[in-house]
Amino acid sequence: MSVQGVLDKIKENSIQFVDFRFVDLAGRAHHITLPATEVDGDTFVNGVAFDGSSIPGFRGIEESDMVMMPDTESVFIDPFTDHPTLNVMCNIHTPDGERYDRDPRSIAQKAEEYLQSSGVGTAAFFAPESEFFIFDDVRYESSMNTSFYSVDSEEAAWNTNRKEEGGNLGFKVGVKGGYVPVAPVDSQQDIRSEMVRLMQEAGLRVERHHHEVATAGQAEINFRFDTLTKTADNLLLYKYLVHNTARQYGKVATFMPKPLFGDNGSGMHVHQSIFNGDSPLFYEKGAYANLSQMALHYIGGILHHAPALIALTNPSTNSFKRLVPGYEAPVNLVFSKGNRSAAVRIPVAAVTPKGCRIEFRTPDSTANPYLAFAAMLLAGLDGIQRKIDPTALGYGPYDKNIYELSDEEKKEIRSVPGTLDEALDALEADSAFLTESGVFSQDFIDNYVAFKRQEAKAVAIRVHPHEYGLYFDC
Ligand code: GLU
Ligand code: MG
Ligand code: MG
Repeated sequence: MSVQGVLDKIKENSIQFVDFRFVDLAGRAHHITLPATEVDGDTFVNGVAFDGSSIPGFRGIEESDMVMMPDTESVFIDPFTDHPTLNVMCNIHTPDGERYDRDPRSIAQKAEEYLQSSGVGTAAFFAPESEFFIFDDVRYESSMNTSFYSVDSEEAAWNTNRKEEGGNLGFKVGVKGGYVPVAPVDSQQDIRSEMVRLMQEAGLRVERHHHEVATAGQAEINFRFDTLTKTADNLLLYKYLVHNTARQYGKVATFMPKPLFGDNGSGMHVHQSIFNGDSPLFYEKGAYANLSQMALHYIGGILHHAPALIALTNPSTNSFKRLVPGYEAPVNLVFSKGNRSAAVRIPVAAVTPKGCRIEFRTPDSTANPYLAFAAMLLAGLDGIQRKIDPTALGYGPYDKNIYELSDEEKKEIRSVPGTLDEALDALEADSAFLTESGVFSQDFIDNYVAFKRQEAKAVAIRVHPHEYGLYFDC
């Protein structure tokens, strides 16, 4: 949309406020709001100033002046404000007008520019499946509730969503029993439908919604693939609408990867493919899973760099509590068609040449999507450029349930890192695939690792409730 298009939209919809948003290192949106009367063509040229030193992971206090530079391609009318408000996504620039090298959205755009300059293709498409839980809004109560950490996992998961007004009405979802039952077992159809309605109004093309496998109100809503930065914008919009719709219903939504010990966690599988103009580059009829050589090399790049990549796609201490065997989350760094226990799956059911894609199942929604998508694309491109053959490296294909392989067979397979610190070690040792293209700066990587190490340490030094069961009576 042109600047004039945005100004017309403000007028046509009697918009009173324009909300300028940017995204921080962790992927959280921040905003500053201007009365619509203060917004004109110049706002889109000069941007909106803010204090970068107050945003975790951004600038030091000595160089705090930053500018939000609005992107007129990414606007939506906010359905939650009392006063008509238009939201505009922004890049972050330095006062000199340069793209700030820690701005995640600028990094995403640089990754797209790099793809085009590489000659591999013209566009990469991404589609995240971002799962989440909808709980009763008992955050403060639940943080004191040891059932979240109970040794008896089944009971823990069972207990978390037991509260019911007017007595126990039955129709409970059992542990790992939530996959698509109809109402009254699925009690959250209306809230998901409302989320979808608001997403459609805001311009997302939603394909479907359903209850997910876990016990206590786990949900998934799928929206259509798009290009890299656009999809990251769409994911931010998705999370904003999910969080705020839940709140309107007196509930709370969380994208935390593993809120319940003993039940399925929430992933963010990411489907991806590369096109040259209208031609899909990942399809070759008759080959394994109908995958082209280029797609196999892309997979090779993803799996080869996976330990480092995971520092960006699974960047929380909680991420690694999801990446354990037995809960449909991948643990093994291999690829396979159809097999959900592999880190890279190639969906084969009803796939057309244009729909041919790979699915990286490791990521979760604590990832900053701008950074995670950019890093996945760079890993895949490195695989294409260096012709990394995933089969020669022993990454598959594995078409059986990897959870059930013999110990001997399992020894051959590389696993995901076990902790955030291990993933950060891997990123420190393997970051050239991110920096050599100039998409990520070395300063960004160093700052990111330091920022995330603080998070890991903050969790590690705290006393865990489970330690009482293990050690209290020593
Ligand atoms: N919830 C699972 C995960 O943690 C995925 C379930 C599915 O295949 O959709 O990745
Ligand atoms: Mg799912
Ligand atoms: Mg999936």
